[in-house]
Amino acid sequence: RFITVEGIEGAGKSTQIEAMRHLLAEENGLEVITTREPGGTEIGESVRSLLLDGPGMAVDTELLLLFAARAQHLAEVIRPALAAGQWVICDRFIDATYAYQGGGRGIARSRIAALEGWVHGDLRPDRTFLFDLPVEEGLERAGRRGFLDRFEREEVEFFERVRATYLDRARAEPYRVCRIDASRPETEVGNATAGRLRELLDE
Ligand code: C5P
Repeated sequence: RFITVEGIEGAGKSTQIEAMRHLLAEENGLEVITTREPGGTEIGESVRSLLLDGPGMAVDTELLLLFAARAQHLAEVIRPALAAGQWVICDRFIDATYAYQGGGRGIARSRIAALEGWVHGDLRPDRTFLFDLPVEEGLERAGRRGFLDRFEREEVEFFERVRATYLDRARAEPYRVCRIDASRPETEVGNATAGRLRELLDE
C-alpha cells in the first residue's frame, strides 16, 4: 500500500508520520518504509538542496527538478518497495506538486498532469492524509522551529493558494484524500489519523 502525507508548513506531518509508521509496523507487524519528497534517494536529496537553496530558480526549472527527483524516487525506492509488498509512507508527493507549483507558483494544471502521466504511469497513492490548518497558524508553528527555507519565506498569500489547492483536491477525490483537521491538539489529530488508517487496514 502506498500512503502519502501532505499539508502546508507547520501542519505536524513529521509527528503524525512517525505515529502512522508505529501503528502499521509495531502494532500490526507490517513492513513499512518512510520516505520524503523532495528527496528520498541520494540524487533526490541533491535535488532537494538545489530546490531549497537555489536563489533565482525559474518556476519551470523547479517543476522539472521535482519530477526528475520523483522519477528517481519511484525507480529506486517506491516501486521496488511496493513490489516487495511493503507499505510506503511518503512525506509529500504529487498533491504537493499541484499545490505548490500549480496553486502556489501558478503553473498550469495541464502541464503538471502531462508530467504526472509521463513519470508516474498509472501509479496512484492508495490514501493521502492531508493535514489541514489555517495558514497563519501553520506558519507560526513553522516559524517557531526557527529555520525557514526558500519556500517558507514566501508570503502568506502563496500558502493560501497552496492550501486552497490541497482542499480542492481533497474535495475532488474524497475517497483517496482524508482531510484531517490539524489545528486541534496533537493527540486528537493522532487519534483521527489512527482511525482513518485502521479503515485502510480493514479494506
Ligand atoms: O515537507 P518539507 O517541509 O520537508 O518540504 C520542504 C520544502 O519544500 C517545504 O518548504 C515545501 O513547501 C517545499 N516544497 C515545494 N514543492 C513541493 C514539495 C515541497 O515547494 N512539491
